[in-house]
Amino acid sequence: MKRYRSILACVLALVTAFVVGCSAPEVAEPPTYSDAQLEQIQEYKTDILGLRDRMTKELTASIQNGDWVNVDNFVHGPLTTLLQDMNYLTGKLLPDDQPPARKLYREVSQHLVEVSTAAEKGDRAQAVTGYQEALKDLDTFLTQVPQAT
Ligand code: ZN
Repeated sequence: MKRYRSILACVLALVTAFVVGCSAPEVAEPPTYSDAQLEQIQEYKTDILGLRDRMTKELTASIQNGDWVNVDNFVHGPLTTLLQDMNYLTGKLLPDDQPPARKLYREVSQHLVEVSTAAEKGDRAQAVTGYQEALKDLDTFLTQVPQAT
């Protein structure tokens, strides 16, 4: 019993210290990006913009031509790189900015799966819809990326 009490006292002391520590009147600076972070983010963004550009030209052309092998190759090649870049970039964002970016990353990823599925079936309408949705979500993602100063 004595041993139990002393452990309990110890736990209580810890809890008290924790609560006091948390309520200390310490003005927290809102987190901001360092120049180095902004630079890294900018590099990913430049890559993504380049791939976006190719997507609007090469992927749309392949879809229009019903060239489904190229559509599928493009999704599994350049656009997989685009998704990786989006994922890395998201990891560089401030903690509060990450959840919405991650959600858009998942959206784009899902729409690209739709494009790939459409390519397998040779379904042009579904491919166009998937492409348009992916582009829309990608553009929203890009507007949320901080600008390098
Ligand atoms: Zn979407």
